[in-house]
Amino acid sequence: MSAGRFAPSPSGDMHIGNLRTAALAWVWARRSSRRFVLRIEDIDRVREGAAARQVEHLKLLGLDWDGEVLMQSSRRFAHLQALSKLRASGHLFECFCSRREIAAATRAPHTPAGFYPGTCRDLSSSERAQARARLAALGRAPAWRLLPDVDSWAVVDDLHGEVVEPIDCVVLQRGDGAVAYNLAVVVDDAFQGVDQVVRGDDLLFTAPTQAYLASLLGLPAPSYVHVPLVLNAEGARLAKRDGAVTLPQLLDAGWSLEKVWSVLAASVGAGEDVADAAGFAAVFDPATMPREPWVFTPPSA
Ligand code: GLU
Repeated sequence: MSAGRFAPSPSGDMHIGNLRTAALAWVWARRSSRRFVLRIEDIDRVREGAAARQVEHLKLLGLDWDGEVLMQSSRRFAHLQALSKLRASGHLFECFCSRREIAAATRAPHTPAGFYPGTCRDLSSSERAQARARLAALGRAPAWRLLPDVDSWAVVDDLHGEVVEPIDCVVLQRGDGAVAYNLAVVVDDAFQGVDQVVRGDDLLFTAPTQAYLASLLGLPAPSYVHVPLVLNAEGARLAKRDGAVTLPQLLDAGWSLEKVWSVLAASVGAGEDVADAAGFAAVFDPATMPREPWVFTPPSA
């Protein structure tokens, strides 16, 4: 059965922008009669206790989800299987470069700025063996990068229309063995039956790479809705240092949960007359959602 999802990284308490994205992912799934699943993406930036607090804050807001919370770290075997599949189909190569080497390398003229310069892509097997031995002597292992067989890939986003991005040789497994977000997200969305991804538009540029990876793995790509981010009064991305921005901080500053919902609902064009999750689901209409970032001014303590 089809599902939407919210997939936070447990790097700390969510701010009101993250909560707003969660509420939008939830309402988008529920209004299209989808299941809604929660996945904690704990394979990278993990802060002790953050996952439990994220779950607690989503519950406090009255968001609900189907089934158990999936911890991404429990999916390592499936992630490694996906890597094996890509290796077998010739879509991975070993990369021996350090960050410094990549920064210093000259890129071919048609390679976009910031993209992998291609250094290890075309090594002969003896060059690879030498490079492997050189890293092994330092106690390190190579990273595995995507070897794309397309230049670009397109996805359709409900808010942004067709989005085409060049496909880079992104790292899919780091030298320390950690599996990259771009691969794990694809494998786990498919595993959880997710066919609708609603998330912040800072990740819009990753969608074509992820959809391309899904196609290589024989998995269906989801539909995408990348929602505007939340900014502070200076126009920068909202951050914890901007003041009272997390749920406990807002409650401490005197806001009720009803006030939080009213502010969230107003920010997505659903009026201020909303006091809880059910009320939000009853009135939310994507057609009236502003397409611009929301500027949030925290209450003074
Ligand atoms: N875990 C990612 C983050 O918190 C989001 C992943 C996604 O929604 O695809 O930034």
